[in-house]
Amino acid sequence: MIAFDNSFARLPDRMFTRQAPTPVTQPRMLAHNDALAHQLGIDPAWLASPEAAQVLAGNAIPDGAEPLAQLYAGHQFGNWNPQLGDGRAILLGEVVGTDGQRRDVQLKGAGPTPYSRSGDGRAWLGPVLREYLVSEAMAAMGIPTTRALAAVATGESVIRETRLPGAVLTRIAASHIRVGSFQVHAARQDTDALRALADHVIARHYPDADGIPGLLDAVVAAQARLIARWMGVGFIHGVMNTDNMAISGETIDYGPCAFMDAYDPQKVFSSIDRQGRYAYANQPGIALWNLAQFATALIPLMPDQDAAIADFTTRINHFPDLYQAAWLHVFGAKIGLTDPQPDDADLIQRLLTLMAQNGADFTQTFASLATSDLQDRFADREAFASWTADWHRRRSSDHAAIMAGANPQIIPRNHRVEQMIAAAVDGDMAPFDALLDAVTAPYAPLDAARADLAAPPTSAEIVTATFCGT
Ligand code: AMP
Ligand code: MG
Repeated sequence: MIAFDNSFARLPDRMFTRQAPTPVTQPRMLAHNDALAHQLGIDPAWLASPEAAQVLAGNAIPDGAEPLAQLYAGHQFGNWNPQLGDGRAILLGEVVGTDGQRRDVQLKGAGPTPYSRSGDGRAWLGPVLREYLVSEAMAAMGIPTTRALAAVATGESVIRETRLPGAVLTRIAASHIRVGSFQVHAARQDTDALRALADHVIARHYPDADGIPGLLDAVVAAQARLIARWMGVGFIHGVMNTDNMAISGETIDYGPCAFMDAYDPQKVFSSIDRQGRYAYANQPGIALWNLAQFATALIPLMPDQDAAIADFTTRINHFPDLYQAAWLHVFGAKIGLTDPQPDDADLIQRLLTLMAQNGADFTQTFASLATSDLQDRFADREAFASWTADWHRRRSSDHAAIMAGANPQIIPRNHRVEQMIAAAVDGDMAPFDALLDAVTAPYAPLDAARADLAAPPTSAEIVTATFCGT
C-alpha cells in the first residue's frame, strides 16, 4: 500500500500527459529498499510482496496513483531541444513520508509515453541496477540524490545493440522538476504555466524563498553545494544537460555516470561525450551555464524584464564564490581541516596537482592519507614530502576523525559495477547485493571482503567508457 497525495497532477494539464504504465509479462522483484520504504511510510512487508512486484512493474495501478508523464525541454550538449519529456518514466504520484517530506514515486522504464519519440519507453537491467547502486551510494555519502526504492525485472527483452533483459526502477525524488521543465514553458511563451510551476516549486522546495529572485538564489546555492559534493568524491555525472538538472538540488538521471579511479581533472567516461563537455573539471562551469538557462526561463515572470536581466546576471554570478566556498569546505574536511580558510585552497590544490601528475587513485589517496605513508606512490617524493610537512603543520588535532567522516573508503568502482551487471544478466544477484552492502557503508573500516571491492582496478579491469543508460 502506498498513500498517495498528488500535487503535480493538479497543475495545469498542459504540463504533463496522463499515461498509465504498459504492463509486462512477468514481473519479478530484484531488489527493494526497506530502509527507504520506512522513511516513506511504505510497509517493507508490502514491498516484499508479489503485489508490490506487480505495482512497481506497472501491471497494477495502486489506489490513489495518478500516473502521468511530465513535459520538459532542454539543452542537450548545448543544443536546444524544444521538446523532451518523460519518454520512459511515469510518475505514479507523491507520498508524504514519516519525516513530513513530500516525494515523487516514479517508474523508470515503464513503457512508452507521448514523449517517447523513437524510443521504446523501456530500460534494461544494466542501467537500472547501476542507478540503484550509485544513487544509494550517493545517499549513504550524504550527497543529495534521487533514491531507489525497487528494481523489478519485466521478464521481457529490450532490443539495444543486442537483446537484453528489461527492468523497471522505482525512483524516489524530492521532485522530478528540472531546469528543462521551466524552459519548455518559457519557450512556448506560456507565462501562466511558468508561474504555476514556479509557485509549485517555491511551495514545495524553497518555502522561504522571496519570490522569483529568491527562487533563483536558492537553486544557485543548492547547485553550488551539490557540484562541490560531486567533486569531493570524484563523481562525473556524464550528461549534465539542462533536462538532467533537478531544481531541488538532487543528483538526477544517472546515465553513463562514473567515479574516477586515478585522479585526472579532464576525465570523461561517457561514450557520447566526444568533446569532453561534461569532464570532471568542467562540471562547475556547466552547472553555471545551466543556471543561466534557468534564469533566462524565469525572466518572463518579472514585471520589468530589462531590470530582471541585470539583476539575475548578478545573482547567477554568485555561483563561482558559492561553489568555491563549498569546495573549500568539502576538500578542507578531506584533509582534516576543521575550519578551512581561503588560503588553504592552495594546500589542497598542491595535493591534487601531485595526484594528477602521478595518476594517484582519488578515493584511496584521501582514504589512506591520515593512516599510511603514501610517499612511494609519488614519483616526485620530495614534492610529496614537502606537501606533507606543510599539511602536518596546518591540519587540525582531530584531523583523523574529520577525515574518516569525509573520505569514503569505498565508492562504486566502474569495474565492480560492470561485473555486477554482467552477473545480474546471468541471473546472479549476489554481486549486486554485496556491492550494495559495501557502498552503502562508505565510511566503515574495510574488512577483507570490502577491501576487495574498494581496491582500484588492475590494468586489465579498467573501464574506459560508459554507455548511456538507454
Ligand atoms: P536521458 O539522456 O536519459 O536523460 O534522456 C533524454 C530523453 O530521452 C528523455 O526525454 C528521455 O525520456 C528520453 N529517453 C531515453 N531513453 C528512452 C527510451 N528508451 N524510450 C523513450 N524515451 C527515452
Ligand atoms: Mg534525462
